[in-house]
Amino acid sequence: MTSLAIIGAGAAGCFAAASLREMMPGGLSIHIYEAGRKPLAKVAVTGGGHCNLTNTFQGVESLEKVYPRGFRAMKRALAAFSHDDTCRWFRERGVALKELRNGCIFPVSMDAMQIVRVLLHGVGDIPIHTGKRLTSVQACGSGGFTLRFSDGSEAGHHLVLLTIGGTRSMPGLPEGITLVPPCPSLFSLKVEDPSLRSLMGTVASDATVGIAGTRFRAGGELLVTDWGVSGPAILRLSSYAARHLSQSKYSGNLVINWISKTYEEAAEAVSSLSASRLTTSTAPEGLSRRLWTHILSRAGVRADIRNRELGAKSVRSIANALVSDTYAIAGRAPFRDEFVTAGGVGLDCIDTSTFQARAVPGLFFAGEALDIDAVTGGFNLQAAWSTARSAANGILKKL
Ligand SMILES: Cc1cc2nc3c(=O)[nH]c(=O)nc-3n(C[C@H](O)[C@H](O)[C@H](O)COP(=O)(O)OP(=O)(O)OC[C@H]3O[C@@H](n4cnc5c(N)ncnc54)[C@H](O)[C@@H]3O)c2cc1C
Repeated sequence: MTSLAIIGAGAAGCFAAASLREMMPGGLSIHIYEAGRKPLAKVAVTGGGHCNLTNTFQGVESLEKVYPRGFRAMKRALAAFSHDDTCRWFRERGVALKELRNGCIFPVSMDAMQIVRVLLHGVGDIPIHTGKRLTSVQACGSGGFTLRFSDGSEAGHHLVLLTIGGTRSMPGLPEGITLVPPCPSLFSLKVEDPSLRSLMGTVASDATVGIAGTRFRAGGELLVTDWGVSGPAILRLSSYAARHLSQSKYSGNLVINWISKTYEEAAEAVSSLSASRLTTSTAPEGLSRRLWTHILSRAGVRADIRNRELGAKSVRSIANALVSDTYAIAGRAPFRDEFVTAGGVGLDCIDTSTFQARAVPGLFFAGEALDIDAVTGGFNLQAAWSTARSAANGILKKL
């Protein structure tokens, strides 16, 4: 009987195992090797313990916007196993699902452990060997692979599916596998400016953020924290600019457009404020009084004057502070709601219809171990499900 080693009992590894067990029960001998003590430890904490397992993809104009790395591969993987397939798969196994804002799909129970239980039920009697950290995969001349683990043990298998997630320490892999250096994605930014810190807790519901001197821009809700800035707009920006920020050692200037408007629109909004009222008491629409006071102070405008006293120069300064308020980035914030690794196994060495290595027949990859990662919203888990199912299909073809 052909034997398959799945390395890593995470979302991709367990889903591939469950898929293969369903597709050809008993026809393949599968062993899962997991470095940790428990399978699916990360899935258990996804979405703050609620598990945002996929997304409706409604409103996604282009896959590149949600998969900054690997969007072409994801196009193929989604054709093999889409977000609708994900929903169907979990529903058929008793998981009622609901859509929250921005197309994010969660179990109605809001309990990630329900997803863990369903996946483990799918894995069934396939053995999961825990405490087995793979250190190398070697292709044998006779076909098949020798696996070596950190405890000194070895195992031989005909086929290998590597699903070890995003990692900084990739095991030794056969020649012909290219690696894209890993770097973090999906993080908040540290900003040490005291004037911004004084806004802690403020939310700008429709901001656009960017990194000065680059094309990286992202829109959405922005949250000012005690460390700096966070929220969907910043996480998205950190994803788009993951490699750039890593190379610049998390420095540079963050440009905040607090209202996602052009300079002209902002100047027009300021000019049309009620002439007789105090500047501080008439925030333009969509801006909290606290944020508006901050903008006035950034623009160097006195707080105790009436709007009619604002000269053209002040209007220009306020408009500038509204649409290009700039702060020095002081690093990455330490908190991680969701955190993924950009980089991994390069897609140039992978046949993305099966996720098999072109130069190493029998060696497959899926999940975050690949150079595929997404913005927040359930897209990362969808990548794990889709690539795992594509690899499972590829493994079946191979038999
Ligand atoms: C806190 C947090 C919350 C998240 N929330 C969401 C969310 O709500 N929605 C979403 O879409 N995405 C979310 N993500 C991202 C998502 O969890 C990952 O993209 C997804 O789990 C990747 O699946 P994977 O199977 O590739 O890797 P993982 O789930 O990380 O599994 C990899 C497995 O391989 C094991 N392993 C690693 N190295 C070795 C080795 N050398 N030998 C053997 N085993 C090894 C690991 O222990 C692990 O069990 C979140 C991430 C984090 C950190």
